Amino acid sequence: MEVFQGTPWLKWTASPRYNEFDKTTIMITRRKLLKTLSSVPVVSGLIGTGLLTPQLMKAAVSLPAERNFFKELGLRTFINAAGTYTSMTGSLMSKEVTSAIAYGATEYVDLDQLHDKVGERIAELLDCEYATVSSGAFGAMTIGLAGVICGMDTEKVAQLPNTEGFKNEVIVQEAHNIGYTHALTNTGAKLVKVKTAKELEKAINKKTAMLWFLNANTEDGEIKREEFVALGKQYEIPTFIDCAADVPPVENLFKFTKMGFDLVAFSGGKGIRGPQSAGLLLGKRKHIEAARLHTPPRGTTIARGMKVNKEEVLGMLVALELYLAKDHQKEWELWEQQIKLISDSAQSVAGVETEIHVPPHANHVPSLRINWDPKKVGISAAEARKRLMDGHPAIATVGDDQTIGITTWMMEPGQERIVAQRLKEVLSGT
Ligand SMILES: *Cc1c(COP(=O)(O)O)cnc(C)c1O
Repeated sequence: MEVFQGTPWLKWTASPRYNEFDKTTIMITRRKLLKTLSSVPVVSGLIGTGLLTPQLMKAAVSLPAERNFFKELGLRTFINAAGTYTSMTGSLMSKEVTSAIAYGATEYVDLDQLHDKVGERIAELLDCEYATVSSGAFGAMTIGLAGVICGMDTEKVAQLPNTEGFKNEVIVQEAHNIGYTHALTNTGAKLVKVKTAKELEKAINKKTAMLWFLNANTEDGEIKREEFVALGKQYEIPTFIDCAADVPPVENLFKFTKMGFDLVAFSGGKGIRGPQSAGLLLGKRKHIEAARLHTPPRGTTIARGMKVNKEEVLGMLVALELYLAKDHQKEWELWEQQIKLISDSAQSVAGVETEIHVPPHANHVPSLRINWDPKKVGISAAEARKRLMDGHPAIATVGDDQTIGITTWMMEPGQERIVAQRLKEVLSGT
């Protein structure tokens, strides 16, 4: 802290976080540094005056709390009235989670031991056999299937994605075969698509490795979860359920391992609000131990690139602890109030109609659909959404040709008022 003595106008730099970040300040070239510093108002005036000592420059560059990194990069941030979209960077992490991540960056530990301990802790929290923090739900699917295919055989592990000679077929319902199945074929496995339970039974053969279920599309497939699990048990084939976007409700974190699915995947950066590139793989210990053989620190494996660093492992654990401890009822009521406020505001414009609904699976939160009579409201849905995004503050929504879709669960409290107001302005053309 000596660096701040006698420079009262730099006092604002002495935030408690200063020391933490100072440890990890990286060396950057003087030229780059000056470019960066020119965007820090107090410091920019000192460039070229000789007053900017290396110590001061270092101090100024380590001011995370005061720097607006996104602005420096020329990026606009926005109010997320859309939901947990990968392209919109998922969710926001709480201070407890970001502190865990910052803490993780300050010490070395053995990566495998960390995964072992956190896996045990998560299994205890979620009352299942075992767990691991994965690189997203997508990574959980790849390593989960890879574990099922190879078991504890390290020669097989090294052979993937060449699955010649292995059980390498995964049966999925046609209605569940959306893009995410690429996580499965990444292992070298092939998909076998079926519609009915009869077709599924007929498709089972000695090459069948796993049965995979997409919870989000439960209503679209003929075979429902219990029957799917029963078929797996009957033919002694492991079952996997993708629940990436399926909290809330919180019970889902427990429900599917108890229902008998051998493996269950959740996204870390959606409802749980952990790191966006983390996820959870839950279920049978033997499959998760086998899945771990594909992950770093081991190198000659298909999942070497699906590394989860210690910071994210801690962030994921803390996000999960916080999520479990939350008052879910209260949170739900807040979302309902927020949606109603926005709905009322939109409806106050003549010709606008709204509908509040809750998707049955995946993104199961109070959601708003806004439509209008084009004769009474002279703006297209696409144009209205563009105006919301281009306005101040920017507001991201979802929608199609006729509809704007809104959720509030990814907003910061209070932003619902801004969204309500802006929506009314855009729809009424004021
Ligand atoms: C988001 C999502 C995924 C991918 O999850 P990540 O955590 O981003 O890897 C997989 N499946 C479904 C159904 C999803 O919604």
